[in-house]
Amino acid sequence: MSINNVNIFWFRRDLRLEDNAGLFYALKQPDPVQPVFIFDTAILSELEDRQDKRVLFIHAAITRLQNELRQMGSTLDVRIGKPVAVFKELVNTYSIGAVFFNHDYEPYARERDSEIYSFLQSENITVHHFKDQVIFEKNEVIKSDNTPYTVYTPYANKWKSQLNDFYLRSYPSASCLHRLYKQAELPLPSVDQLGFEEAATDFPAAAFDEKLIADYHQTRDFPATDGTSKLGLHLRFGTISIRRLARFALKTNATYLNELIWREFFQMILWHYPDVVAQSFKKDYDNIRWRNQEQEFEAWCKGETGYPLVDAGMRELNQTGYMHNRVRMVTASFLCKHLLIDWRWGEAYFAKKLLDYDLASNNGNWQWAAGSGCDAAPYFRVFNPTLQLKKFDPQLKYVKRWVPEFGTNKYPAPIVDHDMARKRALEVYGKALKEKVS
Ligand code: FAD
Repeated sequence: MSINNVNIFWFRRDLRLEDNAGLFYALKQPDPVQPVFIFDTAILSELEDRQDKRVLFIHAAITRLQNELRQMGSTLDVRIGKPVAVFKELVNTYSIGAVFFNHDYEPYARERDSEIYSFLQSENITVHHFKDQVIFEKNEVIKSDNTPYTVYTPYANKWKSQLNDFYLRSYPSASCLHRLYKQAELPLPSVDQLGFEEAATDFPAAAFDEKLIADYHQTRDFPATDGTSKLGLHLRFGTISIRRLARFALKTNATYLNELIWREFFQMILWHYPDVVAQSFKKDYDNIRWRNQEQEFEAWCKGETGYPLVDAGMRELNQTGYMHNRVRMVTASFLCKHLLIDWRWGEAYFAKKLLDYDLASNNGNWQWAAGSGCDAAPYFRVFNPTLQLKKFDPQLKYVKRWVPEFGTNKYPAPIVDHDMARKRALEVYGKALKEKVS
């Protein structure tokens, strides 16, 4: 028996009731709105760690949503399965007029959404979709010749010149929740039912520290300091609104706003150039003869390279699911240039470990570090991990936090000599790019 005339709002990477574009537009319709979340088995089955913290984070976020919805007499309908199969079940449960959701720019999501779209069309159900997780998407910031930007600075300038209150305004979804469909609370699947295990977690709060953002330009480069916002995870899953954050950044800190624009730049690049997932943006870089030494890769993963800043970063990542941005740059550069290991190996390792893992940003930044990206570090600029340490962790506070045996005879000798590795990287890159190196 189907329940009559509802519209569905499908939560994806927008796990909040406030300032949610798609949810707001759904709630503006005459029919009541049934919120739905799908644990996609195609994604879950790829995860190796039974205590994957991203799954635990999502589970906690939908539990919070469920508590908020309960107070409105509503409930989240949470299903497990492949999204098309789930929608086939949903049309049997509810008489659905329309389905609303927010955009996702990743290739898998685009394919999934077009399949869902075709299915819903075949059932005469309308689909409405909205921009929510970025200020500007797809073709909204393009060059005057209508082609996408591939260099950050002119993109960021155009982004800022187009910005106005219209793009930053909040959607008052939270004040329309009386339009939700009312029914008795539906049970949430347990972590166990998802095939995962509970574990201790310590997620950063979904709130921003105003003083920290105000001082960000002075503090952001020093990994021993708590000087960055730790909002990556919340931006990834939409537990914070990008519009609220961008409004605050615009008023307070230009450097912080620029970082949010980097995020949108890479989302835009992934939308226009989905091939970057598997290939170098600059095709010549796929001629590089990577050494891909397994043992060296393992030493890098474990944080046992003998370069303290690299090792501290990798151990921070392994233990917490987070790594400071400055150190992400150093570790990534070290893998690609010092060890000549394919950036795709490092990208995949970060994808497994990072709580704030985001395909567009991870791929964009890895290609930046490898030199192969659209607006990348020039290949001949090889970060010196020892100088980076002197500059950004001069008192070794960060290193000592993560590498307690540093300075003792238990700490390994460098797995590679910096000067030799630098020269070798220039030769190998130069050969692939057919450029003369001095
Ligand atoms: P803050 O410094 O407080 O910045 C605020 C927000 O701006 C971040 O949360 C993020 O959304 C955005 N941002 C900041 N720097 C960048 C950047 N360089 N590129 C894109 N967005 C940025 N970021 C991810 O969100 N997911 C990833 O998977 C990811 N992988 C990375 C891999 C490498 C090799 C490198 C060098 C960087 C990567 N970054 C990634 C970018 C950056 O390191 C993180 O966004 C940042 O460290 C997250 O910490 P925070 O929230 O405290 O950031």
